[in-house]
This record gives sequence, structure tokens and C-alpha cells, in this order.
Amino acid sequence: DQTAGAPAKRVVVAAPRGYCAGVDRAVQTVEKALDAYGSPIYVRKQIVHNKFVVETLSARGAIFVDELDEVPDGSMVIFSAHGVSPAVKADAAERGLRTIDATCPLVTKVHHEAKRFANQDVQILLIGHGGHEEVEGTAGEAPEHITLVEHPEDVDGLEVADPSRVAWLSQTTLSVDETMETVDRLRARFPQLIDPPSDDICYATQNRQSAVKEIAAGSDLVIVVGSANSSNSVRLVEVALEAGAKTAHRIDQADEIDPAWLEGVNTVGITSGASVPEVLVQGVLEYLGEQGFPPAEQARLVEENLTFALPHELRSARRAAR
Ligand code: SF4
Repeated sequence: DQTAGAPAKRVVVAAPRGYCAGVDRAVQTVEKALDAYGSPIYVRKQIVHNKFVVETLSARGAIFVDELDEVPDGSMVIFSAHGVSPAVKADAAERGLRTIDATCPLVTKVHHEAKRFANQDVQILLIGHGGHEEVEGTAGEAPEHITLVEHPEDVDGLEVADPSRVAWLSQTTLSVDETMETVDRLRARFPQLIDPPSDDICYATQNRQSAVKEIAAGSDLVIVVGSANSSNSVRLVEVALEAGAKTAHRIDQADEIDPAWLEGVNTVGITSGASVPEVLVQGVLEYLGEQGFPPAEQARLVEENLTFALPHELRSARRAAR
């Protein structure tokens, strides 16, 4: 019910958005393990940080636990996409649990980098969020060699054993811009700082941030679909605001939209985190349609074609089952 002369309402959906290759692989791992072995299948931590995905897989028979001591002897357990420390793997092996490792290969890459630097006795400054599962897993590869750096402001207070033997690594789902600020500050303090062989912030995080930047400045409101514990989703809200969105909110699904957010809004930008099924974005579009917004326009920045093979444990199990 637009009045004459009022600016046209628009809905612009960023692309790429939603599922990345690592999440797709992890979710498929649980689904295919349930198909191959039946319920119950235990999953240590949320397989990916999305409430809807966890609820859907729970309904199919997956049992999500925080730690291995909640997994009965002889059971099968899947490690989540965020990765696990060697201590957790050793614990599972000692208990004789059957395991499937759904760690994203791009997180595994960071684990390898941590091990390599530690073997060279280089101190690793790991940029990331304390308490996040990925950081716990990566730090567990070389606890003696890793120092966590959470914010650019933390750099000034850092103490290192030998300033000529320091390297940086990062969590895969950080803000690209804030991480580069931290790295610049690290390099100013430690000019011999060693870079990782390639960016640790993964392609999916980078693409989703670049795509939301494209639509943010033209949006009165940016809606990011994603769960509160999803690092990359929370970063998308921050990036949208920094890139000029008038307001930005994160929601798990359409029923969390406060109608007051839409008052006086002409252009709504939408994106979703790397762990978010597209059906949740469609739910938001339907809701906006009911509120008088037109069908969405897509703003695609780049194409993504990456896929990862399923974990080898699952591939060999499925071969054996044939
Ligand atoms: Fe892997 Fe990146 Fe997806 Fe995390 S966000 S699962 S690192 S592809």
C-alpha cells in the first residue's frame, strides 16, 4: 500500500549467502551417518552453529552433547565442523568410541599451520574469540606455543618470548577488516612477524562479508539470518553497519522480526550466515511479502563452486555397506 510519490520499496538479497562447503559437508555427514548406522548417533557440540539445523537433525535421531563423557561406551560420535583438539581425539580413541570427523578442511588447514609453526618453535599469535570451539580446537594443537589475541587493542599488552620468532594465525570466521587491523598492529610491534602461507579467514566468510557490504549502504535495514552463536553471522551484522546500513539485526528465523523494524523502511537488505539453510531466508522473504514488500532482487557478487568430499570414515563405511 504505497502512497503516490513515496520511494519504492525494495528487498535486496546478497549472494553469496548461506551454506558454505564446510557446513554442507558437516550436515550431510550427520544425515548420511544416520542413514548408514541408524539412531542414535552422537555429535560432540553443535554440528554447525545453527538452531534450525540442530533441531532438524535432533528430530532425525542425532544426539548433541557437549563433551565425550556424555557419550555411552561403544557409540558412534561425530566431531563438529569447528574442529577438535588432539586431546579430544585421544580421549575418544582411548574410550574405543567410533568417530567421524566432520571438521571443515579449511579449519584442518589452520590446525596444520599451528602444528608446523609449533614444530619450528615459533610463537603463534592466534587471532580469534576466546571460548569459541574452533579456537579451542586450534589452540589444542599447540597449547604451549599459542597466545590468543582477541582484539586489535590487545596487541599493545602482548608479551612474547622472542619477537623474532612470532607468527599469526586466525579463526576462519572473523571480520576481514578487523583482523587486518590486528595484523597491522602486530606487525608494527613485531616487524619480523611471519604470515600464514594463505589466509585463514575462509573464502565463505570473506565472500559473505564482501556481498553484504555491496548492499549495506543502500539499505535502511539489513536482516542477517543466523544463530547467536554463529561467529560469521554475528560478524555480518557488524560489517553491514560499518558499511553504511542504517540498522542491522540478526535473527534465527522470520518470527523474530519485530514489525517496528520495518517502520519507515524502504529498502531491506538480506543475507545469511554460512550455517544457515536457504529455507530460513525464504521465510523472511515471505514475511516481507505479507508486509507489502515486493519480490526480492538478487545482488550476486561472485559464484561459489567449492565442494568437499565427505569424511573418509563415512566413505569407507558406505563402501563396506554396499
Ligand atoms: Fe569451513 Fe569456512 Fe564454512 Fe567454517 S565458514 S565451515 S571454515 S568453509
